Amino acid sequence: MNTMKTSTPIDRLPRETYATLRPYVPIMTPVDVELSENTNQWGAPPAAVEALRACDASALFNYPSQPISPLLAQLAEYVGTDDPATIVLGCGSDDILDCSMRAFAEPGDTLAYSDPTFSMSEYFGRTNGLTPVGVPVLPDWNVDVDGLLATNARIIYLCAPNNPTGTPIPEASVRRLLDESEGIVIVDEAYAEFANSSWAKRAPSEERLVVFRTMSKAFGLGGLRIGYAVGRPELLLEINKASGPFKVNAIAERVAIATLKNGLPWVQARVKDAQAARASLRESLIARGFDPLPTEANYVMLPLPNAQAVATKMREKGIAVRAFTGLAVIGDALRITVGPEHMMQRCLSALDAVLEES
Ligand code: PMP
Repeated sequence: MNTMKTSTPIDRLPRETYATLRPYVPIMTPVDVELSENTNQWGAPPAAVEALRACDASALFNYPSQPISPLLAQLAEYVGTDDPATIVLGCGSDDILDCSMRAFAEPGDTLAYSDPTFSMSEYFGRTNGLTPVGVPVLPDWNVDVDGLLATNARIIYLCAPNNPTGTPIPEASVRRLLDESEGIVIVDEAYAEFANSSWAKRAPSEERLVVFRTMSKAFGLGGLRIGYAVGRPELLLEINKASGPFKVNAIAERVAIATLKNGLPWVQARVKDAQAARASLRESLIARGFDPLPTEANYVMLPLPNAQAVATKMREKGIAVRAFTGLAVIGDALRITVGPEHMMQRCLSALDAVLEES
C-alpha cells in the first residue's frame, strides 16, 4: 500500500506575494574604499573594541539580559527620554522596521512613504503583506504632506535625514502628519547624529510617533547590529510582541553598553569629521560643475545620468559608491558616503577618471 501523501508542488510552497520580491543583496566584492553603505569609515570606537576583547565565555553560554537590559536605560539617557520603557531594541533598525510593519498594520493596509526613500521600508511593507504607496518628494525636497495624508495610510514612514537624498524634513511637515493623519508615523533617524534636529526625545509624549535609531552609522558599529525605537511604552510593547525575545546578542549588548559609557567623545568627534567631509565633498563636486543635493547626513547624493555604469567602473578602480536608477523626481544618481580625506581624494580621482574615459 502506498502511504505517501500527494505533496504540494514546490513552487506553491512560498507565499504567492513573495514571487516578485527580490532580496537586498549588497555587492560585496572587495574594494579599497567602501563608500556605499553610509557606515563610519573612521572605524569603530576604541571603547567598543576594548569591550569586545574583554568579553568572556559568559557572553556566549548565557542569553543576553533583554528585555531588561541596562542598555535600555543608557539609550534612554543618550536620547534624552530618561526612561528605559521608552526604548525597544532590535537586531539593527532594519529589524525594528520589519517588526513595526506587522505590529501596526494588518495585511492589506496601506504603508505610505515619501519617494525616494530607504528602500527597505517598501520591502518590509511587502514582506508583511502591506500595500506600499510612494508619494513623490516635492521639487524643494520637502515631503508632500497633503499627498501623504491623502493615502489614508495605516503607517506613514518618513526618513530624516532621508536616505538616499540626505535632505532633512522640516519639523512643521512632521507636525502636520502627526496632527492630521490617522495611523502611526515612523520617523527613521538612522542619520540623526549628523543632522540638526531629532524627534527622539519628544517621541514618548506624542501619541502616534515612533522614532527609529541605530548604532550602525555615527557609532561605527554596523557589524554589531544594534537598532532601537523610541516612543510611548504602549506602542513599543506592540513592536516587542512582533519581535520576540533576544534579538540583540550578548556580545553586542556588552559592547554597546561600553560604547555609550566610554565612547561618546569619540563618536561626537567623528560626527564633526563627517560633517566637515560632506561640506568639502559637496564643494568639490560643485567645483566640477555638478549639482549635488543639500545633505544633513554622512553622504552626498549626486544626480548623474548613467550612474550605474559610472559606479561599476569606479568599483573596478577599487572605490565602492552606491548607484540608483530611475529615482522619483531625481532620475539616476550616485550616493557617496563621506570618510577620511584620503578616501575622498581617491573617490574624486576615480570619478574624474571614469567620466573622462566615457
Ligand atoms: N534606516 C535607514 C534610513 C538606513 O539607511 C539603514 C541602513 N542602511 C537602516 C535603517 C538600517 O540600519 P541598521 O539595520 O544597520 O540599524
